Amino acid sequence: MYAEEVAEMAGRIRDEDIALVRERSSIADVISEVVTLKSAGGGNLKGLCPFHDEKSPSFNVSPARNVWYCFGCGAGGDAIKFLMDAEHLSFVESVERLAARAGLQLRYLEDDRSAPRPRPQQGQRQRLVAAHAAAVDFYRAQLGTAGARPAREFLAQRGFDRAAAERYGCGFAPDAWDLLTKHLRQQGFSHDELVTAGLSRPSRSGTLIDRFRRRLLWPIRDLTGDVIGFGARKLFADDDGPKYLNTPETPIYKKSHVLYGIDLAKREIAKQGKVVVVEGYTDVMACHLAGVSTAVATCGTAFGTDHIGVLRRLLMDTDAVAGEIIFTFDGDAAGQKAALRAFEDDQRFVGRTFIAVSPDSMDPCELRLAKGDLAVRDLVARREPLVDFALRHVINRYDLDTVDGRVEAMRRAAPLVAKIKDREKRPEYVRKLAGDLGMEIEPVQRAVLAAGSGQPAGAGGSAPARSGPAAPSLDSPRSMVEREALKLALQEPVLAGPMFDAVEAGEYRHPVHQVVRAAIAAAGGAATAAAGAVWIEQVRDACADLAAQALVGELAVEPLRIDGEPDPRYVSITMARLQWGSVTGRIKDLKSKIQRINPVSNKDEYFALFGELLSLEQHARALREQAAGGL
Ligand SMILES: [Zn+2]
Repeated sequence: MYAEEVAEMAGRIRDEDIALVRERSSIADVISEVVTLKSAGGGNLKGLCPFHDEKSPSFNVSPARNVWYCFGCGAGGDAIKFLMDAEHLSFVESVERLAARAGLQLRYLEDDRSAPRPRPQQGQRQRLVAAHAAAVDFYRAQLGTAGARPAREFLAQRGFDRAAAERYGCGFAPDAWDLLTKHLRQQGFSHDELVTAGLSRPSRSGTLIDRFRRRLLWPIRDLTGDVIGFGARKLFADDDGPKYLNTPETPIYKKSHVLYGIDLAKREIAKQGKVVVVEGYTDVMACHLAGVSTAVATCGTAFGTDHIGVLRRLLMDTDAVAGEIIFTFDGDAAGQKAALRAFEDDQRFVGRTFIAVSPDSMDPCELRLAKGDLAVRDLVARREPLVDFALRHVINRYDLDTVDGRVEAMRRAAPLVAKIKDREKRPEYVRKLAGDLGMEIEPVQRAVLAAGSGQPAGAGGSAPARSGPAAPSLDSPRSMVEREALKLALQEPVLAGPMFDAVEAGEYRHPVHQVVRAAIAAAGGAATAAAGAVWIEQVRDACADLAAQALVGELAVEPLRIDGEPDPRYVSITMARLQWGSVTGRIKDLKSKIQRINPVSNKDEYFALFGELLSLEQHARALREQAAGGL
């Protein structure tokens, strides 16, 4: 794809110019605009790959060789290729962007007989960005006109002076149908370009009119600082449109990725390892001016997975380095709901998530206006871990003076604790929850464990209530294989025993499955057992907790996932699938370890690990064959 495009385009930009662009582009600088890079030793750099989802960095950059490569997904190339992949640019657009960065004038070969002429054709992205740049200038000039008085007043009333308005490029869309459109057409932008950019739209009569009218505008920039869209605030009472309007989806404006203020905040976000997510344009301005320089806001959409992806790469959010993400809410019911919703997202974000709720139900802009810069910094400093916030919010709904209230609060709160990704933190929260509820630790622990396995929680230490299908995360294929293996050991110990016992408890990932596996071992192992009720009782008695006991009862009767009678082949396939998951996991870990080692200075360790990797891969191949049905 890349090679074809190079060949196709090579006639347009002179080869020597392309070579010069490659030579003059610092690959580390280009990539740093999008990915936070840290030293990887030996002059190399590494970061989180923007092209696949990962938690530890396998994206490597070699400034000396001017190339990048990702060990995780195999993507790689030069600076031109990086821009093509990361910004979805064409080859020509990438070269043009890099040339502009490096201050190089490109020469194009439209046909070979004429002399090279500068830029007869630009890539689409560059044209759309240029149209936005011209629009920013136009709107900014309009902010000084008489008609823009309400816009200036809006800013002044919120504590933003002229310097602030200029810094953020605020502008005014005048009370006219097509002033901007005409202005940009005169500058050489085509009808189609203005429509594609989202700056203009066809009217009912077919003529081209401006998208924004009589509104205060904020230019929205991407990570590199290019303006890619606008946010527009209603100013007049007779404007029957929504309070905020945004640029629609365009080739350069994707609202699920866009974060207002990211161009100004990115360096501080990377430096401080934290980001503050606020709700509006004025909140971003207020935070920055108050000294909270890491504030960004989503534009007309809820904070989502793609936003997390953008931020994680800036935060270097890995298992080793935890970035901090702070959501601000203005303390009303809607804000609390949003915070609890954010809890769902939190699990996709390795870093710690915090909530900063303004006690007076003010947003950061109002807070700065009423109480000054210090109050805004204070709001952020007083942040609370999202888990604490969510637990408090849930518990507050119940009357803890009654047994029923405490038990019901425990039932509602336990799933939140069970969801905490960082497993080491769970015991701490179990203790905290028990303390907050005024209960013993054990029942709370059981409720959390049961919630994690999808089991209904038992009340106050009695046997677990059983209602409906209680299945440990049935949706995960890995869990289903673990479950099947345990069913074989319980229902068919004579057949499955030896193969089952040979696979250790460490190969099971689900905590409840680990407990059941350990109980089978404690009961003497499946190979020694005789099928029947006595065996099931022995395993049940050996279980360390109630949730596992309940699961044993269930697995003893749940039909196997095979038509007809199970045979040794089925046992073999099931056990191979079970181990496959953990072997591939170990291979992944090993690969990442090898990649962190300098093969020159740590030659012995490097080759030892490499040997281990080869034998693991051989094991994985054997398992794959076994899982495919060969014994
Ligand atoms: Zn990758």
